[in-house]
Amino acid sequence: MPVKGLGTYDDGNVFARILRGEIPCRRVHEDAHALAFHDIAPQAPVHVLVIPKGRYVSLADFAATAPAEEIAGFWRAVARVAQMLELEAPGYRVLTNMGEDAGQEVPHFHVHIFGGRRLGRMLSEQQVGH
Ligand code: 5GP
Repeated sequence: MPVKGLGTYDDGNVFARILRGEIPCRRVHEDAHALAFHDIAPQAPVHVLVIPKGRYVSLADFAATAPAEEIAGFWRAVARVAQMLELEAPGYRVLTNMGEDAGQEVPHFHVHIFGGRRLGRMLSEQQVGH
């Protein structure tokens, strides 16, 4: 489904290429619904991306069009990955960028898992700008 601002799914996006094995990644976990791997430019001691295996451009697309089983499997994988990385006790942050204002760069739905240090406030700059 086309999502405003992001268009239709582009099979050439970098995460589609990682899923097809055309680009290497430092894999953390893989199951029927999700692939998790380390971000190439980490912004915290632990910075892992979790992506669904299906072709969804964004959270909006995923929520609107993915089968319930895929949605459940994906979010279970997110929590499982954080647990595997031993982030549950110290805590962690899950974030997704959706569309232009959020600065979404890769048009394949993904969530970031951050951990390994005190993460501070939720937004780092221009917190109350309009
Ligand atoms: P976004 O801004 O779309 O939420 O996040 C995209 C993320 O993908 C960025 O944190 C960026 O560092 C990461 N990224 C972009 N290209 C690659 C890549 O080829 N490999 C990996 N592992 N991460 C990538």
